[in-house]
Amino acid sequence: MAYQSINPYNGETLKSFDAQTDGQLETALATAAACFEKWRQTTFAHRADVVAKAAALMREQSESLARLVTLEMGKLIAQSRGEVALSADILDYYAQHAEHFLAPEHLIPSTGEAMVVSEPLGVLFGVQPWNFPYYQLARFAAPNLMAGNVVMVKHASCVPQCALAFEKLWLDAGAPVGAYTNLLISHDQVNHVIDDARIKGVALTGSAEAGKSVAARAGLNLKKSTMELGGSDAFIVLDDADLDKTVEWAVWAKMNNNGQCCVAAKRFIVVDQLADQFLEKFSAALALLTPGDPMEASTTLGPLSTEAALQHLLEQVDQAVAGGAIVLTGGKRIDRTGAFMQPTILTHLKPDNPAYNEEFFGPVALFFRVKDEGEAVILANDSNYGLGGSIFTQDIEWGKFVASRIETGMVFINHPTWTTPDLPFGGIKNSGYGRELSNLGIQEFINKKLIRVDAIDTSA
Ligand code: NAP
Repeated sequence: MAYQSINPYNGETLKSFDAQTDGQLETALATAAACFEKWRQTTFAHRADVVAKAAALMREQSESLARLVTLEMGKLIAQSRGEVALSADILDYYAQHAEHFLAPEHLIPSTGEAMVVSEPLGVLFGVQPWNFPYYQLARFAAPNLMAGNVVMVKHASCVPQCALAFEKLWLDAGAPVGAYTNLLISHDQVNHVIDDARIKGVALTGSAEAGKSVAARAGLNLKKSTMELGGSDAFIVLDDADLDKTVEWAVWAKMNNNGQCCVAAKRFIVVDQLADQFLEKFSAALALLTPGDPMEASTTLGPLSTEAALQHLLEQVDQAVAGGAIVLTGGKRIDRTGAFMQPTILTHLKPDNPAYNEEFFGPVALFFRVKDEGEAVILANDSNYGLGGSIFTQDIEWGKFVASRIETGMVFINHPTWTTPDLPFGGIKNSGYGRELSNLGIQEFINKKLIRVDAIDTSA
């Protein structure tokens, strides 16, 4: 079965869905294209009513929506509720600000008049990951629907119930059929959709491998794309950091969403002076996490999203060890039903270890000891990825200076990399290109059209 909901806490299959046929896909594309012609003519006020209504519905249905996330991919229930709230905030943010962000810009040419207007491109196609099953959809759908585009989404194959629930929200909020379309399609059909002339832009959030495939296909078709890909964020601890607070953040930065965040801290880079104390406190804090049912408030360590994800992570740890890394703590699956992995710290990773440049998507921390800030920056930048990163210091000006030398799309000082509707999100290098959220996010799939009025020559 192509799309399957399997509870990773106990392995139970909850629901299965067939992939759509090519005929069903064609109908969906035609419906979206027809919808765009009407939707683009609607006012910002009308679109804002629909988007704000979808936000209100998300909040009303918070509990049932959150439970679906926890059932399908194992996120701790409190975090699932947080994701629903954040997604609703993103919807409201664009309902409130889109018109302002897309207002015509009047230029000052040497003669006559000129302005740049922002027009929608058409039907957009998004390919999305399972790790934040609503938030990812919200940050693609809300700005683009507000801009007058319509969207079609292929969600990850392990979260079909979340995908369908999110599509239903739009219909219940009064969006016309075709404004937001969920597609249950195969990778081959993804290529077919990208090739289709009715699709005007492509946005993928996922791994670098998926990004290369989808971006290449979009490029072949000369279609604009944005790529929000993986990361291997550095968590840099400078010698004046408040250690207890920093360790608290380190646990959050690593273990939020069971370590399955693109911007989770993946490489802990600590100056020599604090390294031993940090390691001791960090491993002690990880040891306190309690595995269990992610629906229970008392559980602090949930399963990974799927058994396959767990197997992949275990293989990565084994290969890292074969390449010379040392397991300081953890490294194995937890001996119980479900896709549970021990919180793990790996040390002694050298650049010649194949794992050095890999993204570990789960509760595995790579630990590096460095002499000073200079070495920390060199190590942080020595990565194929360039998504986020964080710096811990009590000297904010120093933190800003170090941040200016980090080669990523986002750097946070005294907080792990995180997200709010009003802050741009995205990376460089193998972490992708383009930005989502904030004013920048709504500008990606827009025709910035120049309208020029020549001065009338009255001399004749
Ligand atoms: P993934 O395997 O790349 O899948 C992401 C999406 O792409 C899924 O819908 C998947 O469909 C689809 N897909 C994968 N390969 C494809 C191909 N060759 N052709 C067409 N579609 C393809 O990633 P994931 O495991 O779901 O998510 C984790 C990754 O996403 C991590 O690397 C994480 O860092 C990254 N991520 C990045 C951001 C960001 O904003 N930068 C945010 C969240 C996650 P199927 O499920 O059907 O395979």
